[in-house]
Amino acid sequence: MAIKNTYLTELMETVIKRNPGEPEFHQAVQEVLESLEPVIEKHPEYIKAGVIDSIVEPERIIKFRVPWVDDNGNVHVNRGFRIQFNGAIGPYKGGLRFHPSVYEGIIKFLGFEQTFKNSLTGLPIGGAKGGSDFDPKGKSDMEVMRFCQSFMTELSKYIGADTDVPAGDIGVGAREIGYLFGQYKRLRDEFTGVLTGKGLTYGGSLARKEATGFGLCYFTKEMLAEKGQSFEGKTVVVSGSGNVAIYAVQKATELGAKVVAMSDSNGYVYDKNGIDLDTVKEIKEVRRGRIKEYVDVHPEAEYHEGCKGIWTVKCDIALPCATQNEIDGESAQALVNNGVYAVAEGANMPSTPEAIHTFQSNGVLFGPAKAANAGGVATSALEMSQNSMRYSWTFEEVDAKLHDIMVNIYKNVSSAAAEYGMADNLVAGANIAGFIKVAETMKAHGVV
Ligand code: NDP
Repeated sequence: MAIKNTYLTELMETVIKRNPGEPEFHQAVQEVLESLEPVIEKHPEYIKAGVIDSIVEPERIIKFRVPWVDDNGNVHVNRGFRIQFNGAIGPYKGGLRFHPSVYEGIIKFLGFEQTFKNSLTGLPIGGAKGGSDFDPKGKSDMEVMRFCQSFMTELSKYIGADTDVPAGDIGVGAREIGYLFGQYKRLRDEFTGVLTGKGLTYGGSLARKEATGFGLCYFTKEMLAEKGQSFEGKTVVVSGSGNVAIYAVQKATELGAKVVAMSDSNGYVYDKNGIDLDTVKEIKEVRRGRIKEYVDVHPEAEYHEGCKGIWTVKCDIALPCATQNEIDGESAQALVNNGVYAVAEGANMPSTPEAIHTFQSNGVLFGPAKAANAGGVATSALEMSQNSMRYSWTFEEVDAKLHDIMVNIYKNVSSAAAEYGMADNLVAGANIAGFIKVAETMKAHGVV
């Protein structure tokens, strides 16, 4: 879909000119600007107030050198980033990604999306993202620790419990958050909730680990219920086998579905009897192994090289939980040809624009990332609340709050889509509902 409005078309051209060579960021902005066409027709005051020009420009881009020493005494230099995209509605909040594909454009697209997602949670958190092109894969614990300490030595100058509170993302789990927190505490001599996703012994929240995957399924449950459907008896495919994927599989299974396939960046496993999640947890969470090891334990399952093939597995519901642009137009068409009924995004921007178009034009229910995976950051905000109170809620209390948040997100997104004449288009609904709260706040704050 092309943008028709002249102001938005020119703004998109400016974004491309100002951020050359960053296609992921252009893709994320283009989608939002398309959704905002009917909004600015109704509210031209947002243009006059400069809100839309400002919302596509990060408030602050921090880039730094991260030198570290490996186990053999060799020095390596990586690049670190923190992009504080929009702090209108609260302290900056968003994860850190450690992956070799990280560059400024990836962090920018993630920070931009985070602004809208955080707004949708209904909680007071602004949007940010950070990370490094460091690859934790194959590194020893001590190498990861030395890298995290060096990364935090620089990052600590820009974050704080009331300023900017990072969390995990790809390649940053409990181990990395522990090392990062330890170094922050040492440098600043303060014990505050400066990071979320912390271990339970030092201020972490129960249910944070599960939150993104569980939240994704709560959102999908609402989307299905609207059409009189449920997870019960459905066949599900979940890409990835990291934090989001594992807990999406757990909740989908608890809700009565059978998950038959999971993947990593090398390939995918298909188990017609339903994935045995204990095996996956043992391989991925305990041993940091590869998904192909699943067939060593379950020889009746099949392993296929190449992660893209997972989208050729017949399913009713697909939950992409690995990375950006993992479903292209061709994979989306394969899912449609196999009769997929619903797709909900656990990863950030996993579907290309062509894939989204293929789903929507074939009547597939489609839950976009900004809404569907917001449960992780929402629970991070609940972790911040608990840290401020110096108190912990039970697993059941946090899970119940997460469930309510996801139900509300679904309702708000779905009613925003209907209000602007695009009923069932949850992509537009999420962009519009996320935008309006931030835009109103930016207008109230004046030109800042
Ligand atoms: P993890 O690092 O725990 O897991 C990532 C998974 O995705 C791994 O299975 C990994 O395989 C696979 N993967 C990563 N990059 C690629 C790639 N280029 N091609 C194919 N597969 C790949 O990360 P998370 O589970 O935390 O994050 C997954 C997605 O969910 C990301 O898009 C993230 O931004 C998003 N997300 C995460 C949240 C959270 O709370 N953690 C919150 C909201 C969104 P391999 O091991 O082979 O690299």
